[in-house]
Amino acid sequence: MKPIAYLIGFCLYYSGLFRLAISIRKRCVKILTYHDIAEKENSFVRGMRISLTPRVFERHLQFLQKHYSVVPLKTALAGMQTPGTADRYVCITFDDGYASIARNALPLLSEFGFSATAFLVGKCAVGREVMWRNRLAFLLCEHGGRAQAALARATVEFDPSLAKAIESAPSVGALRLSKNLQMLRPLVEVESMLSRLEGDLPCIAEKPYLSDQELVELANGGVVLANHSYSHAEFNWLTPDQIESELKPWYREHHGNTPSEMTFFSLPFGHRLRNHALVKEIAVRLGTRCILFSNGLDNPPKTDPYCLGRQHLISSKFYRIFTELEVLPVLRRYSKLLLKLLRTEGPTTEDWRPVQGP
Ligand SMILES: [Zn+2]
Repeated sequence: MKPIAYLIGFCLYYSGLFRLAISIRKRCVKILTYHDIAEKENSFVRGMRISLTPRVFERHLQFLQKHYSVVPLKTALAGMQTPGTADRYVCITFDDGYASIARNALPLLSEFGFSATAFLVGKCAVGREVMWRNRLAFLLCEHGGRAQAALARATVEFDPSLAKAIESAPSVGALRLSKNLQMLRPLVEVESMLSRLEGDLPCIAEKPYLSDQELVELANGGVVLANHSYSHAEFNWLTPDQIESELKPWYREHHGNTPSEMTFFSLPFGHRLRNHALVKEIAVRLGTRCILFSNGLDNPPKTDPYCLGRQHLISSKFYRIFTELEVLPVLRRYSKLLLKLLRTEGPTTEDWRPVQGP
């Protein structure tokens, strides 16, 4: 689908028709997801495909400044619910709370005068722990083939075919395959498997996340601090009580003086929820105002605020940025509709496979 989308985007951009396309779709609110903005991937995120260089990020901001209106998430939420209000709205969001947001993204956001929302993980932001995906990346990065073989052996009990795939993959590939681990077993089992793998290796002294000081800098720089759950668990595994504790406004208890908006929630892994009705019911009861997914879709007027789509921008060329903003969501939406019409069987695990990194 992507090559076709980029071809359409190329034709629309260089014929000048892209301005018309943006205007026709100006009521569809775009929410962008970023993670790490850095010149080089560090050991905690290597192979996860979630890093962009500051230069590419700056190109995105240049394109947005010229053709869109970058607004806070709060404004976008209100705009979606009031017909005729949203006009080329784009929101910028960051997941996981990596330190590079303050070091590399914030100066650029300030230069352009843009606001953003940073979705933080409680155990990383206030508990100062390293989440399992980053621990695994670190392990594979620092200990290479030995760690990969150990990971393959450890995942046999999870899924023999996944273990085989990990064993035969290059180490970066192994990391991407291991993203499936949390769909196969609850977080507690994945973490205990990882602890066994880490064994006697030295503890990770350095943390890849925003420090308290950097969190304050972000808040002062117009970045809203929001909730990406407490432990970054896969929600499809959780009981109602566990969902409730993941959604609780953990930040205020620890950083009462720093402004935050814990009622904005972005779903860990961002893919389809089999228990969406339950999660939504608990979220509404706790006062959560929105749930953001990472499904590559934008948000037409009247979109359910508990089922908001988010998109990734990864390219540096303007015609490709335009394609990722305007062409890909349309193709995705139509292909989903088509699949729905053709489907005769009930949902399978394929329905909730992640479309991106954590
Ligand atoms: Zn995440």
